Amino acid sequence: MTTGSTAAYEIVDFDDAIHRYDPVLGLEVHVELNTNSKMFCGCSTEFGAPPNTQTCPVCLGLPGSMPVANAKAIESAIRIGLALNCDIADWCRFARKNYFYPDMPKNYQISQYDEPIAFDGWIDVDVDGETFRVEIERAHMEEDTGKSTHVGGSTGRIHGADYSLLDYNRCGVPLIEIVTRPIEGAGAKAPQVAKAYVGAIRDLMKALAVSDARMERGNVRCDANVSLRASADVPFGTRTETKNVNSLRSVEGAVRHEIMRQAGVLDGGGVITQETRHWHEDTQSTTAGRPKETAEDYRYFPEPDLVPVAPSREWVEELRASLPEPPAQRLQRLAGEWGFSEREFGDVVAADAVDVVDETVRAGCAPQAARKWWMSELARRANEAGVALADVGVTPAQVAAVQALVDEGVINDKLARQVFDGLLAGEGEPAQVVESRGLVLVSDDGALSAAVDAAIAANPDVADRIRAGKLQAAGALIGAVMKDMKGQADAARVRELVIEKLT
Ligand code: ADP
Ligand code: MG
Ligand code: ZN
Repeated sequence: MTTGSTAAYEIVDFDDAIHRYDPVLGLEVHVELNTNSKMFCGCSTEFGAPPNTQTCPVCLGLPGSMPVANAKAIESAIRIGLALNCDIADWCRFARKNYFYPDMPKNYQISQYDEPIAFDGWIDVDVDGETFRVEIERAHMEEDTGKSTHVGGSTGRIHGADYSLLDYNRCGVPLIEIVTRPIEGAGAKAPQVAKAYVGAIRDLMKALAVSDARMERGNVRCDANVSLRASADVPFGTRTETKNVNSLRSVEGAVRHEIMRQAGVLDGGGVITQETRHWHEDTQSTTAGRPKETAEDYRYFPEPDLVPVAPSREWVEELRASLPEPPAQRLQRLAGEWGFSEREFGDVVAADAVDVVDETVRAGCAPQAARKWWMSELARRANEAGVALADVGVTPAQVAAVQALVDEGVINDKLARQVFDGLLAGEGEPAQVVESRGLVLVSDDGALSAAVDAAIAANPDVADRIRAGKLQAAGALIGAVMKDMKGQADAARVRELVIEKLT
């Protein structure tokens, strides 16, 4: 057995693993900042441009080109540090991290090493209603690498590929790497703590508006370090680092699987190799990557082409004063303001619908109505289209406008669904869709009265039952009228007419 590969060892049941071993976590989260230009040059950071159209001599590492640090990125780094309760360095430098990889044409990455811009912080995360404090070792600035696409293999990895394509557009995009201290004491909740922590970081980045913070686009990526030891009072075991996990569910899954896998290796008398690992969504398991470099391998040294970063205390305090409401506090406030049941609120949070519901409410919609549309009708459509709620194609302002039409009695919920169809088909704003599709609710007594008479004539037995005092039977007649009028009748008025005519 040369590596910690899973092949020769049994995977241990999670509860058994936790019974015998104490897991320790270390989470490194990379956040891609949303600055307009790159970290050390003026190239655009716009997502989705054709390959290699956003490059220049600096980010391509051509000889003689000189980097200049992006002030906005430094500001974002400080704000992130402050929001994570870190100290901000008076003076710090960039460092060269030397290694070769085709997606990094300079042959070194400009990063920070022993002088990070922010250090010694913490963040509280919520796991099943319990608060867990995660200590932050540091948050440092660095640049992203390019993107390699390995073509021809079945896995998308370099092994088995026919050739590889390189896109340097992402080269030099500003990143902040946030590194925790070893997280101890999570026990069986370690996978949930990891998930909650990465979720909390993502939410914080959104609140700070320093990143698009979309995990599916790789704006927030997590390297999850996991080790096991026999008990909490012995030194840490050897860790593995599962790289680039980019969804909250995967973070939880990767930690969980590493605990079960490492327990199997240790139970079988094996040793854990310090290595990187890859997470596989399909099998919910990790496989070995490369043996882990040590800091010495990178030959770190201070970056000679950049001046040190020395933020004035006044600037730092100005940035501190401008921090937004912390996400956890905001949730608590919204829960109070909206008055949802705990279950309803929990569902909104779980569906990642807090922002859209909040914006809808701020556009004038009642909280329950906003919740109803986003959690049912729009969630279904987003799900069908395989997109996030925020990308479903209907804006919070439009949802508020649709609900306003319902409140005014112009349309009912059923017609509102057709308005959403129209909005998604690009037929304009809600009022225009109502107009062009002729969706206005009929509450005109003349038309309704005729339809009610027809329904009574067609359902004499039902009419008799209502005459005999069985008012519950009215539903069948109302249904018949609604069907007749293609859902465009005012149901409350129809009910009144039915009862007026038969009692
Ligand atoms: P690397 O350069 O190897 O990525 P970092 O210091 O950037 O190292 O990150 C390592 C992460 O793993 C940190 O979050 C650290 O707290 C954590 N860590 C260190 N030792 C262990 C261990 N034995 N088990 C689990 N996590 C660990
Ligand atoms: Mg690291
Ligand atoms: Zn450039």
